[in-house]
Amino acid sequence: MSPSRCIVAVRRRARCAEALTAEPFDGYSLGGLWVGEPAAESHALVAADTALLPADKPRYLMGVGTPLDLLEAVAHGVDMFDCVLPTRNARKGTVLTSRGKIVVKNAAYAKDNRPLDPDCDCYACRRFSRAYIRHLFATGEILGMRLASLHAVAFMVRTMRQAREAIILGRYDAFHREFRERYTSGEGVMPATRETA
Ligand SMILES: [Zn+2]
Repeated sequence: MSPSRCIVAVRRRARCAEALTAEPFDGYSLGGLWVGEPAAESHALVAADTALLPADKPRYLMGVGTPLDLLEAVAHGVDMFDCVLPTRNARKGTVLTSRGKIVVKNAAYAKDNRPLDPDCDCYACRRFSRAYIRHLFATGEILGMRLASLHAVAFMVRTMRQAREAIILGRYDAFHREFRERYTSGEGVMPATRETA
């Protein structure tokens, strides 16, 4: 989106927010974002939108699902999310961990006896190794998709719970920075599959 089109979008969304907040709704949703524009523009529009919405009403951002995008939106005052991304990716063998994404179905994990995420206490991480879950994907066993999805939901719920606790403690900025540093560190992730987003 060009700068001029971005400004037009901000103005149009501001008019929409003005009309919506004139009505006594219980909360307000934000949508039409992360549909192909650069993430920085999406975040700028979230910031512009939330600045116009009542602070005492819930804000719900639709269809945004990466941990880093969620935490950035929380920093702008968004309260709720929903998105298919974590479980859709999990069903395809890409798993979120506290140190970034791993593609667990890759051959690199065939002998990796660590859990999907060593920092996770979900059912899948407590009981099964990356090697076993990779085997399930390789053999087309649906249990692989189910375990990866279960972990994905646990990871996202835990991340949001940690964010809420950090807000209550008045240390959200520090939590956000620490999470981003760990998530993009790639530590514990095999170099061949290291990713940063
Ligand atoms: Zn887990």
